[in-house]
Amino acid sequence: MRTFFLEIITPEKTFFRGEVESINIPSVGGACTVMAGHQPMVFAVEPGAIRITADGKTREAFMSEGFVEVRPDETIAFSQAVEWPEDINERRAVDAKERAEEQLRRNRSAAEYRLNRVALARAFARLKVKHHNYMSGD
Ligand code: ATP
Repeated sequence: MRTFFLEIITPEKTFFRGEVESINIPSVGGACTVMAGHQPMVFAVEPGAIRITADGKTREAFMSEGFVEVRPDETIAFSQAVEWPEDINERRAVDAKERAEEQLRRNRSAAEYRLNRVALARAFARLKVKHHNYMSGD
């Protein structure tokens, strides 16, 4: 299968760098799968599960809000946080979920409501990726 170069960067580290067959990313307009030869584009990422397929194996990871730039020669994803299932601290995600739910119940300003909704989406996505532990092609 044809491959392309993928780089996933956070403010702290290069999370992933290498040749892949595809990446599936939750975008604002729905899940987007990038494969070799995809037309150049830029899109916004929603917090959720990404799936990277390389050497016939697919791994899932959590990705927070960010942007993806698909270029003819490479695809670059920038995100505030990206984590493999084994690096997700479940207790922290549960605490974040409860905090966001509590804040949402308090009916704050529209801006705070939006922030808490995204915080809740991050917590849900981390818990989903942690429990799913998706892996195929082994
Ligand atoms: P919290 O309120 O717990 O900080 P958050 O969703 O606001 O959660 P982020 O802003 O997405 O956190 O991430 C900040 C940093 O903390 C990143 O480096 C991210 O990888 C790390 N992080 C956040 N939550 C977790 C978690 N549950 N497990 C592992 N790392 C986490």
